[in-house]
Amino acid sequence: MFKTLRAKLLAFFLFATFIPMMIISYITYDSQKEDIEVQMSQTMISFANSLAVILEDLIQERLTDVAMLAQNPILRNSEQPYSVIEQEIDHFVQNYNLYLGAVFVNESGIVVADVDHTVVGTDLSTREWFQETIDGGIFFSDIYLSPVVHRPMLVLSSAVRDENGEIIGVVSPSFDLGYLWLRLDNFTKQQQLLGLDGYAFLVNGQGDIIAHPNQELILNYNYLERNNLTAEQFEQSMLKRELIHSESNDMLQTFVKVANMPGFEQDWYVGISIPRENLTTPLRDLAFKYLFMFGLIFLVTLYAVFKLSAYIVQPLQRLVNATSDFAFGKRVYPLAPDAYHEVDTLTKTFNMMTRKLVEREKSHQKSTLILETTDNGIIAFNRDSLQITTFNRTCEQLFQKNKSEVLGMTITQFREKSSIFHSFIKSTRLEELLSLNDRTKQFEFPCNINGIERIYFMSISTLPKLDNEQELEDILLIFNDVTDKRQMEQELIRTEKLKVVGQLAAGFAHEIRNPLTTIRGFLQLVHQSEEISHKRKKHFDIMLKEIDRVNGIISELLNMANPKAAMVKSVVDVAELIKEKEMLYTGEAEANKITFKTIVEPLPLIFSDGQKLDQAIINLIKNSFEAMPDGGVLTIRAREFAASDVIKIDIADTGCGMSEETLDKLGTPFYTTKEMGTGLGMMTTFRIIEEMGGSLSVKSELGKGTTFTITLPLERVDVS
Ligand code: ADP
Ligand code: MG
Repeated sequence: MFKTLRAKLLAFFLFATFIPMMIISYITYDSQKEDIEVQMSQTMISFANSLAVILEDLIQERLTDVAMLAQNPILRNSEQPYSVIEQEIDHFVQNYNLYLGAVFVNESGIVVADVDHTVVGTDLSTREWFQETIDGGIFFSDIYLSPVVHRPMLVLSSAVRDENGEIIGVVSPSFDLGYLWLRLDNFTKQQQLLGLDGYAFLVNGQGDIIAHPNQELILNYNYLERNNLTAEQFEQSMLKRELIHSESNDMLQTFVKVANMPGFEQDWYVGISIPRENLTTPLRDLAFKYLFMFGLIFLVTLYAVFKLSAYIVQPLQRLVNATSDFAFGKRVYPLAPDAYHEVDTLTKTFNMMTRKLVEREKSHQKSTLILETTDNGIIAFNRDSLQITTFNRTCEQLFQKNKSEVLGMTITQFREKSSIFHSFIKSTRLEELLSLNDRTKQFEFPCNINGIERIYFMSISTLPKLDNEQELEDILLIFNDVTDKRQMEQELIRTEKLKVVGQLAAGFAHEIRNPLTTIRGFLQLVHQSEEISHKRKKHFDIMLKEIDRVNGIISELLNMANPKAAMVKSVVDVAELIKEKEMLYTGEAEANKITFKTIVEPLPLIFSDGQKLDQAIINLIKNSFEAMPDGGVLTIRAREFAASDVIKIDIADTGCGMSEETLDKLGTPFYTTKEMGTGLGMMTTFRIIEEMGGSLSVKSELGKGTTFTITLPLERVDVS
């Protein structure tokens, strides 16, 4: 999910801003919340405290009222009639306006005076207020449900003593609770004016509500029971100044105890109750404020990250796209460095890299082109795996295999696929050469390709690994066909040899000819002499014949080597020349049972040395005759090859043919297979044809016959 740089940036920024924000916000929110709560509870407690003080004052005042009443001399005078006492306490009730009524009971608990005249004579000795004060002292009762009038009551009582200090009775006014409740209501109103939606109420030690804006609850509702609180928990919460949450009406309450004082021993608790909303609303407002701030920061961060990531990522993305385009071989134009420094550096490097790669690619293509178009065969293969890695066009032609099928094959596999490569490998003894280390090797080897013997020049070298020059990787074979070159060289050597031999022979011939002429002259003289017997004459005949033969050889030698015998070019009619030969040799042919045939197509006149051509043809005819001692067919055929501008003259016999060795040595001076041969005829013929700018080739098979072909360049004669 967070694979892209953009997503990562986003995650990082959110993380970096959000987590600290959350922590800070949580801490501030929490402390503010606490502040609000503390403030609220303090406000409530202070309200409760002030109400408690008001109540304490009220109680104190009422206790003083009663004490004062008990000190009334009329009440203390035991001699006074009860009606006077009644008058006096009625006067008290009227005076103060806070009391509903008052009774005076004698020391036995019997009502003797009553402001309302309703309970006179009633025995109230069991009442708590009577019990509490009959032994002296003063009493402030709890609020209780009167069994007589069936409504909440609060009475005060005080013992009354006569002049002698004897207790003569108890005076007990009943307090007007309306006054107390009014006080509470006033307080509540005051509280509401200050912005607290609550109210004040009173709870006694048993948990009963004794004062409440809703008067129906008074003495009908136990606060502790309703809120599942024990007296202890209630005490504790007061000590800790905790707020009590009343779930039934969702209000928060706090209590303060009204202090006891002499005469007031009740446990009264002033309660302040406010709706929980008063606390939760500011808290909720606070939470909203934080959420709003959070949202705002989130949006701003999001926007900033969006912008920043675009700024960072876009130039990178452009580079990534260009790189992938380049990798897939698409053309990439230089990118403009218009982002920030780092990416600009990268962009410039990228531009430089692509430019260099393109240049390198071009030079690589050029090298490949050279490799493909060269006449040299080039094969490279891996040293260890023997897999072929390079195979150029010349190789494709020579081995008749496509580069695509060969690349990847090992040379062993390729050897099985291509018979030509097989013989190639065999001829080079490549296996032995593979043990070669880094030295290069060059050599020539003959190789039979499709039945034709060719000579190759081979260079074997090793190629180092491209990434590590110390290690060798490929073996490179470069070879070319040098057959033609070698043949030409051979030819050249032979020609040179011939020249030297010719000059040598000419020298010899001259030196030998003169003494030989002298010897022949004298021999002739002796031969003609009468004194010589017939038998001796025969010997002399042989001697003269042999000398003539030597002379013949010398003539031939001179003829061949005569430096003066330069080409004398004239118009030559080759067809005519051949016809002449036919006429000249018909007789001899018949005598040797040889059929002499000539096939001459219409030929153009050429410009050449007729005498020399004549001599060459005669030499070949003579050899053919000598090759057919038992007869045969001699065919001379002459044709024009206009396309290549040559004429060809075939002299074919059905004679003995030549062995490999003879073919090899043909034209070598003095090489002959004949008893009486000179071994100079072929040499002379080769030389003549060569001088004429032509060539002489031979095909021969032992026992079947020989065909010589003279190829002459066509130097046409302009007949007009
Ligand atoms: P010579 O004829 O004196 O032997 P050449 O130079 O004319 O010398 O010939 C050399 C050799 O070439 C011959 O001895 C012969 O063995 C061989 N030769 C030449 N022409 C033919 C031919 N037409 N048929 C067979 N062998 C030939
Ligand atoms: Mg000959």
